[in-house]
Amino acid sequence: MSASLQRGPLPGGCVTLRGRLTSAFLVVVLGPVLLGSIFVALTVGAVSRERTDERLDHAASTVGAALSSVCRQLQAAADAVAVVPPGDRTAVKEQLIVRGLATAIQVSAPDQTLSAPSDSVARAAAVPENAYEAGWQDCAAPETAPGAEVTALSAAAYTDDVTVVAAQRVDPALLDRLGEVSGVSVALGAGVVPPEGSAGRGLAAEPGRPLPLTLTVPTGEPTLKYAVLPLIVLVTAALAVLAARWLAHSTTRPLGDLAWAADRVANGDLDTRVPIPRPDELGRLAGTFNRMTRELQSYVQALTASRDQLRRHLAILGDTLSSTHDLDRILPVILRTAMTATGARAGLILLADPGDGRLAARCGAGLTGEWDVGGTELTQRRLVPGRGVLGTVAATGAPMRGPGGPAGDEPACESYLAVPICAPPSSDPLLAEIEPEPGVLGVLALYDRLGGPDFDDADMRTLRTFAGQAGVAVNNVRVHEEAQRLSLTDPLTGLWNYRYLREVLRREVERANRFGRMLTVLVLDLDHFKEVNDTYGHAAGDLVLGEFARRIRVGLREVDVAFRQGGEEFVVLLPETDAYGGVIVAERLGAAVRDWPVPVDPRRPDLDDRISITVSIGVAVFPEHGSTAQEVLEVADEALYAAKNSGRDTYRLAERVSPGVPEGQFDPATTTSGGPQPPRQARGR
Ligand code: GH3
Ligand code: MG
Ligand code: MG
Repeated sequence: MSASLQRGPLPGGCVTLRGRLTSAFLVVVLGPVLLGSIFVALTVGAVSRERTDERLDHAASTVGAALSSVCRQLQAAADAVAVVPPGDRTAVKEQLIVRGLATAIQVSAPDQTLSAPSDSVARAAAVPENAYEAGWQDCAAPETAPGAEVTALSAAAYTDDVTVVAAQRVDPALLDRLGEVSGVSVALGAGVVPPEGSAGRGLAAEPGRPLPLTLTVPTGEPTLKYAVLPLIVLVTAALAVLAARWLAHSTTRPLGDLAWAADRVANGDLDTRVPIPRPDELGRLAGTFNRMTRELQSYVQALTASRDQLRRHLAILGDTLSSTHDLDRILPVILRTAMTATGARAGLILLADPGDGRLAARCGAGLTGEWDVGGTELTQRRLVPGRGVLGTVAATGAPMRGPGGPAGDEPACESYLAVPICAPPSSDPLLAEIEPEPGVLGVLALYDRLGGPDFDDADMRTLRTFAGQAGVAVNNVRVHEEAQRLSLTDPLTGLWNYRYLREVLRREVERANRFGRMLTVLVLDLDHFKEVNDTYGHAAGDLVLGEFARRIRVGLREVDVAFRQGGEEFVVLLPETDAYGGVIVAERLGAAVRDWPVPVDPRRPDLDDRISITVSIGVAVFPEHGSTAQEVLEVADEALYAAKNSGRDTYRLAERVSPGVPEGQFDPATTTSGGPQPPRQARGR
C-alpha cells in the first residue's frame, strides 16, 4: 500500500523529520567515531614511539654488553701472549688469531712495564708506538679525538718485558654481529642519520662501550597507518550515513503513512487504513488510528442510515400530508418521523375531543406496559386536561420535559418530552368563519431518547416543528370536514343536499349489493306548495320547509339519511329496509306532516293561523325496483308521480321490476306488480 503513497512537499524551508533524524543519528554516531579515531591516532603514535625507545634502550645495553665481551676477549688474548715465554709468543699469537680471538696482536718493546697506567694519557704513553695503528680504539680508554676514524678495538697487556696489544677489526661483519644480537641496525659513528621510516640513536664511546655507534630501528609504516585510519573513519562514516538513512526512513515511513491516511480521512475516505509495521509505539499508533477510523466509519454509517431514514420519513410525511385528510394516516407518520428525528424509543399523540374536551389517544408507537395496545383499545384511552404531564401540556399550552417514571395514567418512561399541538393562526379571513376555535388541539409526546441522555433543547425545537405539522394537519382536516359538511348540506333545512345524495346513494347501493341487503328510497314532494308560498309568503314557505325537514329527521332512525333534493322535494334513504319497512316509514312521515299543521308564526304557536300541509311519497326498493342507484331513484320518482296522480297526500310503491335482478330474489308480497299494495293513506288536507 505504501508504494502508492503520495505525499505532498513540505512547506518551503522546513527540514523534514527524516532529515532531522538523519542529522541527529550522524551527530551521535560520527562524533564519537571521529574523536575516537583522533584519540587512536594519537595513542598509536605515542605507543609506537615508546616502543621504539624501548627497543633502542634494549639494543644499546645489548650492544654495550657485546662490546664488553669483545673487549674482555681481546684482553684475555693480550694477557695470554704477554704471559708466555718470549719464544712462544709468536706461536701463541698466531694460534689466537687463527682461533678468531683477535684479528691482530702486536708485541711491543721488551722494556715496558705491565702495570696499567691510571689515566688514559699515561696508558697511551705506556703503549709502544708501534703497537698501534691509527684508528685503534683502546677498550680501556674509549675517548677518541673527534673525527678520527676507528678501525679496530684493542686491549693491551703489560709485562716486565713486553707490551702486548690485541685488536679486533671494526668491520661490517662486526657491526652485523652487533646488529644481530641487539635486533637493530648498527652503524659506526654516533652521528649517522637514520634512513626514512627509521628511528636512530647515536651512542658516544664510553667505558664498557668503547665504540661510537648509531642504532637504527624501523618505526613501521606510518604512512600506511595514517592512511588506513582515515579509510576506516570514512568507511565508518559511510556506513553511519547508510544506517542513519535506513533508521530515519524506517522511523518516518509509518509516520508518513499515518499523515497520508489522516489526509485521506480528512477528505472523507473513511475506508483508509494504515499498515501496522511493528508492535512498537508507531504500530500502536497505527492500530489506534485504524480503530478510530473504523469507529468513525461506523458512526458515519449510522448517521447516514439515520439521515436516510429521516429523509424517507420526511418524504412519506410530505406525501401523506399532501395526499390525504385522513388523520389516522397522517398522525402515525408524523409520530414516526418525530421519533426518528429525535431518536426517541416511544411516542404518543393525543387529540382533544371536541365533545368533552378530554384528551383522546390517536396513535402510539413503541409504548410499553399498559399502553402497549393498538388500534381501537388505544383510541379509547382518555386523559383529563390539567392532570398529569400530558394533561398539563394540553391545559397550559406549554411544552414540558424531564426525567420520567410511571406517572398516573400516562406511559411509564425514563425521560419524556411533550409539546402541545396547536392550530395555526388563520391566514384567510374568509376561512376564519368555518375554522375551529384556535387553541390546543392535542399533545405530541416522546419517551426515552435512545442511546443518549435526556431530551435537550434541540429535540424540543424539532418536536415543536412536528407538532406544528400535526397542528396544521389536524386543523386542515377539521376545516376540510367543516367545509365538506357545508358544501354537502342545505342551509335552509340543515339536511344533506342533492350532491351528497348522489354520493351516499351510490355508496349505499354498493354496500347493499355487496352484502345482499335491501335499500329503500323514499322521494317526498310537498303538495301544492306553490299555494303556500302564494298564500303566506315565501318566508312562511321557508319556515314550512324547515319544519318539514325537522319532522323527517325526528321520524327516522339513526342509520337513515334525509336529503333535500331541491325546492320542496326530499329524499330519504333507509338502509337494510325492505318495501314493507319503507311503506311504514312513508305512512309515518305522511302522518307527521298531515297531523300537525305548521304555525305561521312559530313564536306564537297558540295562534290558530296554521298552515296545513301534506306530502306525497314515492317508494322504491333496491334491488327489487332498480339495479342501480339512478334506476332506483328514477322508479321512486315515478312512484311519487303515481302518488301525485292518485290525488296526493299518499304514497306509492314502485311498480317497475328491475330486469337485472334474478327472479328468486323478489318477494311477491312487497312488489306492486304482482302483490297487493300497502294500505293507502287517507287523502286530503
Ligand atoms: P304539487 O302538489 O304538484 O307538487 O304542487 P306544487 O305547487 O308543490 O308544485 P310546484 O313544483 O309547481 O311548485 C313548487 C313550488 O315550491 C315552487 C316554488 O315557489 C316553491 N319553492 C321551491 N323552493 C322553495 C323554497 O326554497 N322556499 C319557498 N318558500 N318556496 C319554494
Ligand atoms: Mg310539490
Ligand atoms: Mg315539486
